[in-house]
Amino acid sequence: VSDTRVITPHIDRRWHTVAALPDLDDDNQSRQLYEIHSAFFSGLALGVIRFEPSHGEKRVYRYFPARDLAQERLMCGIVGILGREPVAGQIVEALKRLEYRGYDSAGVATLEKGKLTRRRAEGKLRNLDARLREEPLTGHSGIGHTRWATHGKPTENNAHPHASDKLAVVHNGIIENFRELREELTKKGHVFATETDTEVVAHLVTDEIRSGKAPREAVASALPRLRGAFALAFLFQGEDSEWHQRLNNLRQI
Ligand code: GLU
Repeated sequence: VSDTRVITPHIDRRWHTVAALPDLDDDNQSRQLYEIHSAFFSGLALGVIRFEPSHGEKRVYRYFPARDLAQERLMCGIVGILGREPVAGQIVEALKRLEYRGYDSAGVATLEKGKLTRRRAEGKLRNLDARLREEPLTGHSGIGHTRWATHGKPTENNAHPHASDKLAVVHNGIIENFRELREELTKKGHVFATETDTEVVAHLVTDEIRSGKAPREAVASALPRLRGAFALAFLFQGEDSEWHQRLNNLRQI
């Protein structure tokens, strides 16, 4: 990979901890990660490297050997289910199958009679399972996420889904221009509750909805404003009846 530095991996149990790279600002860092990801996807790299911010000032990168990722050539811990019964349990089961990719926290949101409700937990999925046992989610459609933090500590508050009164969103990747967007949205009166880059997506799309757009159009207007690498899944307040109607129609066919 032309402008990616050579990195020596040291064996650290399942993962290889990679010797610290020279300090990079966040933008360069995400560009570099993106290049490494691209190299991996195109079969040029031996693995994927991700920034691990949970070690305070020390910058630690983790190297995912390609053989561990070979089954699924995508770095992503996103699940969405439109069902006919409560889906939270199935979402967590699906996330468990993606556990091998590594994560530091997890969360689920479902729509319960048109209202968004979410549960999140730091650490392993069994912690999320425990949260859901204490306070179950009963919605029949939902989204879930396992997070590998890039911006903001791996806490429950920074765990996805991020939500507003209009929507919930899960995201994998990095929104590189999140600082500019956060500043702009804060001036408009949006109040940010997390340290993540992802939360700008929730506010940006919410802003479009408040200006009168339907969810699909709101996302279409927001996406061109995002820079970086991202996969997103949204759940909108009050929006599942139409989808369930379509699901029923499909079943009748
Ligand atoms: N950049 C986002 C965050 O730090 C998403 C990280 C991920 O891909 O899991 O919350």
